[in-house]
Order: sequence, then C-alpha cells, then structure tokens
Amino acid sequence: MKNALTFDIEEYFHAEVFAHALRPDEWPGLASRVVDTTERLLDILDYADVRATFFILGWIAERYPALVKDIAARNHEIACHGYGHQMIHRQSRQEFAKDLQRAKTAIEDAAGTAVIGYRAPTFSVVRETMWSLEVLWEAGFLYDSSMMADDYTPYRIRRGDVVEMDKPVAFGKPTRLIEMPIAWSLDDFPHFEFLRMKTQLMPGLMNANSVMENWINDFAYLKENFDWGVLTYTFHPYVIGRGHRMMALEKLLRAVADGGAQFVTMEDAAREYDKRSPFSG
Ligand SMILES: [Zn+2]
Repeated sequence: MKNALTFDIEEYFHAEVFAHALRPDEWPGLASRVVDTTERLLDILDYADVRATFFILGWIAERYPALVKDIAARNHEIACHGYGHQMIHRQSRQEFAKDLQRAKTAIEDAAGTAVIGYRAPTFSVVRETMWSLEVLWEAGFLYDSSMMADDYTPYRIRRGDVVEMDKPVAFGKPTRLIEMPIAWSLDDFPHFEFLRMKTQLMPGLMNANSVMENWINDFAYLKENFDWGVLTYTFHPYVIGRGHRMMALEKLLRAVADGGAQFVTMEDAAREYDKRSPFSG
C-alpha cells in the first residue's frame, strides 16, 4: 500500500481566498513564511526517512532558489504548481501554456532536475478547462494531481464525456495523462485555516490529532479493501508547519508506517500505475 505526502509550496497570501483582497503586485511587500516553515517540514521528513513530492510555484522558485535546491538535495520529487497561483479557468489556453512554461523553467533551473508532475492552483481543472490536460501533455508532463474522481486509484483522464438529462452517460476517450487523485478531506487547508469572508465562515482550527486519526483510518480502509492503491495527503507549509500540527504529523507518519505504508513520490506511484495499466488508446 502506498502513501504519498504532497506539499504545495506557496505563501499564505497566494491562497485563492485572498485573491479579491491582495493583488500580485502587493505580494513582495508581505511577510514571507515559506522558507522557515518548509525547512522545518524537511527536517521532519529527514527524521522519518520519508520521501515526498513538492508542488512548487514558479514565483517561489524565482525568489527562493536555495529552498528549491535544498528540497531536491534531500531527495524529494520536485513538481509544478503553476507560476503565480492563477486559476486555470481565468486563463486562456495560450496564457496557461505561457504560465506553465515560465513556472516549469524557473523550478527546473532552481532544482537542476526535470519536472513531470503538475498540480493546478486550488485544484482548478474543471470541465471548461479540460484543454489544459493537452497543454500539460505537450509540455512533457506525465501526471496531474488536481482532480477527485477516485479515492485510492490513479486513472487516465477522459475527454469528451457526454452527460445529458434522461440518457445514459456516453464516456469519452482516455488520454495518456495520468491523474493522481486528491481530496479536500485529505487536505490540511479546510481543516485548519480559520477564514471569515463576506458570505461565509470557514471555522478551521480543528484538533490536529483528530484530523490525523481520520487520515490514519483512510489508510486502514485502503489496506483492508484494496490490493493496490495510493493514499495522497496534501499539505501547505503555512498550515501544517505549526508546532502542534507538526507533532500530529509525526504521529501520522509513525502510525501509517507501523501499518505497513510504503511512502512514495507521486512520480514513482504514477510510473507504477503506468506499468500496471498501460495506455491502450
Ligand atoms: Zn496552492
């Protein structure tokens, strides 16, 4: 059974919920927390002897190349989270391709390794932006990790499904791109961040041990019911990188390791899925 830890390397002010309040030209004037919190998490991963996948913003790679180099030097997978955390559905195909290339180049230059994994800002691949998958494949990406159509099993992304009222669903054709599915319930942000917005309140601030208990049970279910699968957790350094949450994270790593988890990078898991289920067109 595989367990994949993924970290989206961005600042708190990149979160989409602040997009209406903070313009990108204001970002450089805000306090940065990304280096210190990420370094703490890297130390925990070293101590636990766990490899993880880091989806990094191009904006971060340009400003903190030493951090990206350090993540790569500690043998983690370096992947791409776009350039400036712009939602895909707010970009044209050309704008997205440019944003992606700028990010990929900045991250690869800083890390000195090739990038083949992508995660959309705020998981913003939607029905209207399925063209983004073609752009990813053309740019040399092997997998995406932004969608939620399965819980433990990677899959080939389909295009051209036709869903109409009162008719059977007509499935489209699978593409080569592999999807490594994620879930909001396995993401630290909604559990822990407290946000008061105009029309809603996100209470967050959950007891970290309770959240980890849920996540340990998601692994236990995988182990009991599947022959093969990948459970993917999503973390953000400004969310999980706080004292009590990091202590709970250490407990999580110990518990799933004791339960037989094999920690893998998304790339390793995607390549294994590719071998188990070769693309048949
Ligand atoms: Zn993000």
